[in-house]
This record gives sequence, C-alpha cells and structure tokens, in this order.
Amino acid sequence: MTDRPLHPETLALHAGWRADPSTGSVAVPIHQTTSYQFRDTEHASALFALQELGNIYTRIMNPTTDVLEKRVAALDGGVAALGVASGQAASAMALQTIAKAGDNVVSSTALYGGTWNLFANTLRDQGIEVRFVDPADPRSFERATDARTRAYYAETLPNPKLEVFPIAEVAAIGRALGIPLVMDNTAAPLLCRPLDHGAAVVVYSATKYLGGHGTSIGGLIVDGGSFDWAAAADRQPALNSPDPSYHGAIWTQAVQALGPIAYILRARTVLLRDLGAAISPFNAFQILQGIETLPLRMSRHCENAARVADWLARQGQVTRVIHPSQQKGDVRARADRYLAGGFGGLVGFELAGGVDAGRKFIDGLELLYHVANIGDARSLAIHPASTTHSQLDAEAQTATGVSPGYVRLSIGLEHIDDIIADLDRALSAAA
Ligand code: PLP
Repeated sequence: MTDRPLHPETLALHAGWRADPSTGSVAVPIHQTTSYQFRDTEHASALFALQELGNIYTRIMNPTTDVLEKRVAALDGGVAALGVASGQAASAMALQTIAKAGDNVVSSTALYGGTWNLFANTLRDQGIEVRFVDPADPRSFERATDARTRAYYAETLPNPKLEVFPIAEVAAIGRALGIPLVMDNTAAPLLCRPLDHGAAVVVYSATKYLGGHGTSIGGLIVDGGSFDWAAAADRQPALNSPDPSYHGAIWTQAVQALGPIAYILRARTVLLRDLGAAISPFNAFQILQGIETLPLRMSRHCENAARVADWLARQGQVTRVIHPSQQKGDVRARADRYLAGGFGGLVGFELAGGVDAGRKFIDGLELLYHVANIGDARSLAIHPASTTHSQLDAEAQTATGVSPGYVRLSIGLEHIDDIIADLDRALSAAA
C-alpha cells in the first residue's frame, strides 16, 4: 500500500487484509472449515515439515483467524501473533511455550483474579512455580530469579489497583538475564504498546476492548520478534534444544529462514496443537469487527472514565477513587509515561460502608450492567469482594488490591450524563 508506516486508526481497518482475491469480498470471510485440501503430497509434506507455512487444520490455523493475528501484530508492532480461545488460554500458553515442570516464572502480584488462580494453583499443580513479587519494585523480579526462571509476567494496567507496571525497567532486567517479559495488555490496547518498551511478548483477552461488543471470547499472543532466544540458550531450553514433540526440531534454528518467529511458532505448532484451545473462526471474525472501531472506542472510554473518576472524587460516601488521574508521584509518572491518549476505561472506588455498601450500590444500578467483564461498549460494574475475588484468600485479596467496599467500573460509551445519573442513583441506594 505504502512504505510510510500507517497509523493505528488505519491499521485497525486494513492490516492483514485486502479484498478476497477470488471473490473480491471486502469484508474478511468467515472460513468455517476444519481442514484444507493439500495440492499434492509434496505440498502436504512441506507444510508438516514447516518448510512452507500454510493451512493444515483449524485447530492450528485458519484464514479468518490469520487476519486477526496479523492485525493485532501490526497494531502492537510485533512480528506475528497467535489467536486462541480465550485470554486465559493466551496467558497459560504464553508461559507453557517456554516453561515446563520444574521451571518457574516471576509474576507481578497485580493480576486479574483468574490469572492469579491459574498461576497460584493450576500451573503450580502442573509443576510450573509462579513466584509473586511487588510490581512497584522492579528489582524484586531479579531477586526472585534463579537458573530455572523462564519468564517474567505482568499486566500493563492491572485492575483493580490500576497502577501502571514499570515495563521498561523490568524488561531491561529480564533481557540482561535472557528472560522475556510477557505483558498482559488487555486493559490498555492502543494506549500502550509494551513491545516498544522492551517487552518480548504481549497477551490479550480479546474478549474485552479488542472485541468491545461483549459477544465473543478470544485471546491473542503477540511475538515482538526482538527477543534473542538463541543468545539465551541455557536459559531457554524449550527453544534451543531438540523438541521431541516436533521430530527433534531446535526451534531457534529450524525456523530461522522464516524470520524471528521461533517462540510464536512453537506456541502454535506444539501448545495449540496439543492443548487445542483454538478460537472459532466466527469469534475471530467478531473480534476483527470490534477492532475496526477500537481507536474511536478507546478514546471515548478514556474520556468518559476520566469524567466519572472526577465526579466520584467529589462524592462524600466515596473514600478513595482508583484511577490514574488521581495518582501521584512515581505511580502517576508511570501512567503518563506508558499510556498515550488516555488512562483507559476502568475506574475503581471504595465505599465507606464496606461489603454491605458495595452490594447495595451494585443492586441500586439500573443502567450499568452487573457482570464479570470489562471492556464492553456498555458500562459495567462489579463488587469483586463478593464475586470475582471471593475465592481468593485474604492475603490474595490484599495483594490484588481488593478491599471489602471496593467497586470496579468499566466505563462504556453511553452519554456521560446518563452514566453519572445511574451512579448517583446507586450511591443513594448504598447510603
Ligand atoms: N487478562 C485480563 C486482564 C482480564 O481481565 C481477563 C478476563 O477478565 C483475562 C486476562 C482472561 O480473559 P478471558 O476471559 O478472555 O479468558
């Protein structure tokens, strides 16, 4: 199209696709097929041997999903991406691609509750130890590292605390040790490009802002292509020693000719192949539809959320507002440094009346939906202490920043006056 780099607004509409060559279809077709006819046996062998990249079976790749992968990779400045069934699948596979039983990962404590459970329980049961450290102190990642540490993990704008992660600082520590930083950028697409700050891999729950319509679960793993896996051979054995699950391939060598995609190709051809958490082509299509308007939506989410934060800060029952605009010092400086174009659509606040007030507030809402989701075009609310975080013990609740009277809002695209009127009504109900 042009040699000049395209802007995000343009990439969101065009990256990875230009009219179907056989039909002229402008919209990306939904390739609702399980399998693909090989031209001949030579073609089939080349595909299986990864001498040529192409469609084999929809559990591993699909042409509709391929457009989604290319589009998100382009928006994030990555070299390739992998679409998967959910954000949870993306987080798990991003780590399982390089960590096996006996290995460990160092993660920020500031995590989505589902990720916390995955890390603290399920991965641990599978033999991958996740060591939790304070994200405010980048050096804590280094202190928790040992010879079996394979990755660092954090969220860009973790809810409920909404304190932006020191991406460049931790990425630099990791790169010096041969450890990639995996960033969950679910809450800040477009606002932050973690790869630009040194992260090696980005994961998304596409269920949230990327889709935006709240209709489809999906996830993505984006490979930045700038992490030197081969230079860290002892540190990253999964990509640097013969892989028995792929006829002894040494990934960093086997796919050199295809570009710096050893990591994402192993994620696809080993983890996705074996675990099978594939995204359906229909969901990939739905998420692509969402991405077309992502730049417009993110800016309205940011604008409305900032106005809600400002309004909440003036309400007597509210003891604390959690939003980057209310932060000070280093924490605020990180929000200003890493988020461009706004502070995202999430706002938290604490009610003086604790659990009881939190529940009454939620029950008093009429416009905002009471759901366990974020990033929908509609405004959403939840009281984590009685829902998403209720399975976590007290220590985990404190580490993740959930207090009894904490309410999380995901501010949508409605008229700001209507959002505030509903919040006002619910605050009266909680009084
Ligand atoms: N990461 C974050 C920050 C999330 O908020 C969520 C879901 O709420 C996930 C990951 C998991 O995504 P999914 O629900 O698509 O599996």
